[in-house]
Amino acid sequence: MAGNVLELIKQGPLVLEGSMGWPLMDGGYKGANVSLCSATEPERVTAVHRAYREVGCELFQTNSFTGNRPLLRAAGAEDQCEAVWRGSVAAAREAIGDLPLAANLGPTGLILQPYGDTPAEECQEYFREQIAVQAEAGVDWVIIETMMSLEEMEAAILGAREAAPDLPLAATMSFDKAGRTQFGVTGAEAGERLEELGADIVGANCGLPEDALVGLGHMARATDRPLMVQLNAGKPELRDGKAVFPETPESYLEYVRRALELGVSIVGGCCGTTAEHMKLVVELVKG
Ligand SMILES: [Zn+2]
Repeated sequence: MAGNVLELIKQGPLVLEGSMGWPLMDGGYKGANVSLCSATEPERVTAVHRAYREVGCELFQTNSFTGNRPLLRAAGAEDQCEAVWRGSVAAAREAIGDLPLAANLGPTGLILQPYGDTPAEECQEYFREQIAVQAEAGVDWVIIETMMSLEEMEAAILGAREAAPDLPLAATMSFDKAGRTQFGVTGAEAGERLEELGADIVGANCGLPEDALVGLGHMARATDRPLMVQLNAGKPELRDGKAVFPETPESYLEYVRRALELGVSIVGGCCGTTAEHMKLVVELVKG
């Protein structure tokens, strides 16, 4: 099922793979930065993609969420940027062949002006350089996710568009209590702004599933762009010193059903989801 994701979603909802970071850490990856694994131990990354492919996921995204220059610099691995960007594409292709693969962009951890010190142009350049390399390495589309400020989202969209103007682009924000992001952005504001900025697909990911669904619902009423969601498997709890996500594959489906009622075109999984969760999501969406 190679092809343009914007064409493919016209046939009905598609299932995007679930969490990458969670299965990597659960599987014993010990590195300080999960995306660095794409350069240092790519076989671990390939194995996670393969598990999602085996349960029927149709769309995939590179293990590069924390692979932007500021976060790799903070992890003492700035010299690995290009290896992470190229390695994340190669590790996915090993498992999925020519199925649609998105370059994944996440927040830099920098606070943009006027709230912080970082000029928007500097942040935009960090996103541009990553997508330039990943586009050359052969991704089919771009996912920008877990953004909480519209300023950083704008920098990411502009940077990605500058590097790869022709690739379809999905932009999703992370909502908190009362359906606002930590920067106070509502779903309606996000929906309008993301459409203005030219995102092809908009949506919500991460946070508590309840909060994400509130933000997504408000967004759905503010834009007619196709919607995408990636829900966490609940709120992590500490059990015996280990983070555990409470939603079982079965209980998780209740949230997925509600997202489908909002008309989402793409359903993936975020923190705490595994191939077991996504197997049931595939059955629900495709059944
Ligand atoms: Zn998450």
